[in-house]
Amino acid sequence: MFDPLRTIKARVRELKAYSLSPDSARVKVNQNENPWDMPERVKQESLRRLETREWSRYPDFIPASLHERLAQFVGWRADGVIAGNGSNELIQALLMVAVAEGKRILICEPTFALYRQITTVLGGDCLSLPLKSDLTYDAGAILKTIEASQPDVIIICSPNNPTGCVIERDDLIRILERARGLVVIDEAYFEFSGQTVVPLLHEHKNLIVLHTFSKAMAAAALRVGYLLAAPELAREIGKAVLPYNLNAISQTIAETAIELYEDELKPLVEKIIAERERLFAEIQSIEGLEPVPTRANFMVVRSAIDPRTVFSELLKRDILIRDVSGYPMLRDYFRLSVGTPEENELITKALREIFA
Ligand code: PMP
Repeated sequence: MFDPLRTIKARVRELKAYSLSPDSARVKVNQNENPWDMPERVKQESLRRLETREWSRYPDFIPASLHERLAQFVGWRADGVIAGNGSNELIQALLMVAVAEGKRILICEPTFALYRQITTVLGGDCLSLPLKSDLTYDAGAILKTIEASQPDVIIICSPNNPTGCVIERDDLIRILERARGLVVIDEAYFEFSGQTVVPLLHEHKNLIVLHTFSKAMAAAALRVGYLLAAPELAREIGKAVLPYNLNAISQTIAETAIELYEDELKPLVEKIIAERERLFAEIQSIEGLEPVPTRANFMVVRSAIDPRTVFSELLKRDILIRDVSGYPMLRDYFRLSVGTPEENELITKALREIFA
């Protein structure tokens, strides 16, 4: 009997699908989203613009007006910007144009699982370095691996999901100078860290930076991300992006959000950073819990109780966190994102009960 599954690449069949537990709860801190909704003023202005737009017409072939606004927003050039249907799409696009059988991709784990997933689907090999025991980047080991193996692509998530560590600027410059391949910095959470590597794009033609509207920009539902790179590189990556990848609704809302960022969204980001520090101190004061210092809007916490038990005990109290105990190095950890002050109160109260 012909088995259609035999036509699927063996390495794909061995892969476990990237998935998320379907649980839901009143306090949802499992996906590193902004705990506040998109501000009403951005919603109303976006809806006003959408009302006069013809829905029968395709979106822009290339969303040039969004690229222009993004370029101005981050301080880069519009011909080096690609907007995508979430930054996931752009991770996929850039790996599609760089990865094939025999190509080597360097990642530092634990990190965002999609890098390994897509590399494997495309037939490439992941070289994986562990983080240091304090869950920060081991720049020395990255540099050594560059010398020894010359990976085709290096992907560094900064701040890193799930550990919250950042790559230091001087270390990154050394990496950019020694690498013979592409260096991708996934800055999905940069707004919470107070730093970005975007200025390095001016001097380093092998740097690619990824940003998203799903976290600080409070627009995860709309699926908007963007890639920044030298125009020559952006042109090549653009060949793997589908036409009309960004729908007109998301494009319009993204443009409006940028225009109103300073007044409407930045204050929310500042509140999240302040809440992160407060939540960290609260959790640190609970015996049996050790939060790991973080520059993002989430943290991993080392737990004296099995993290899967903590997960289910919190779920009973209507709080949904992320079970990361299956990630390398994180068997004793869980991850939670920073909520509103009220949500963070409920979280610390529940953790105090569980660890009493
Ligand atoms: N990069 C990192 C590090 C992430 O954590 C996420 C979302 N969890 C993404 C990229 C993808 O974000 P999106 O596709 O929503 O832009």
